Amino acid sequence: MICKECPRRCGALRRSESGGGVCGVGVKLKISKVMLHKWEEPCISGTNGSGAVFFSGCNLKCAFCQNSDISFDGNGKYVSREEFSEIINELKSKGAHNINLVTPSHYAHTLADIFKENPGLPVVYNCGGYESIRSLKELNGKVQIYLADFKYALSFPAEKYSSAADYPEICEKALEEMYNQVGDFELDENGLMKKGLIVRHLVLPGNLENSKRVIDVFMRLFGGKRVMLSLMGQYTPHGKVTSDIRFSEINKKVSRTLYTKVCDYAAVCGVEYGYFQDISSANEKYIPDFNIFKE
Ligand code: SF4
Repeated sequence: MICKECPRRCGALRRSESGGGVCGVGVKLKISKVMLHKWEEPCISGTNGSGAVFFSGCNLKCAFCQNSDISFDGNGKYVSREEFSEIINELKSKGAHNINLVTPSHYAHTLADIFKENPGLPVVYNCGGYESIRSLKELNGKVQIYLADFKYALSFPAEKYSSAADYPEICEKALEEMYNQVGDFELDENGLMKKGLIVRHLVLPGNLENSKRVIDVFMRLFGGKRVMLSLMGQYTPHGKVTSDIRFSEINKKVSRTLYTKVCDYAAVCGVEYGYFQDISSANEKYIPDFNIFKE
């Protein structure tokens, strides 16, 4: 297929098990890891864990990616639809609270087809926020929870770290579409999310202004609505930023001072729902081991 599935619109040839686009993978589902994920937001991970399926490849490939082994190197294995169904059934049988599709954007079309039938658990679309509206519309009714990054509200860092200067406007429109589909969040009696939107923002060192503008846009879009903002402070230098001098300003952890400033700004702006993080979780031990396919 000639692929224009995501906002990159590469027009690259994607065969079954090879792809020449930015995402770097074929159209057949390629998976790097399957696990019960305990470190997502509490309303997603609960007590048993979220049934996470990490897809190989990525349409963003941020310089600071915490999962660069799978996003850049494309490590993983191609699976058939039948094998994918077995993986989902296995996660269900282990007690997963939901099915968490991690970095799914380059497979949106296939996943929309697969999840025409609900697996009996909420489906979480856990994405980088660089989504095409057409793909999202295909997912309407098949995804119950959007767990979406909002990485940048400013073009400069979007271009520098993700080669996507148009990220801010693409992401804003995508978040609106997601909210239009799932509406206000709802939790069950155990505090697990049944449906809704969580907007995630990873605070980057030296990027206070970007984080503040993200919060401004969040409030403009969702102020007064039941949408969660998850402010993440666990940034750890990884991959390219540790070896490329162009990214030296983010080759360090986020200081407690910076993270506190961002959280304070969110509070002053009136963010009502969501999560602030314990900055002590800025540790590589929270990055899943992608050398193990199943945990
Ligand atoms: S899904 Fe991959 S190949 Fe297709 S447009 Fe996006 S990055 Fe390019």
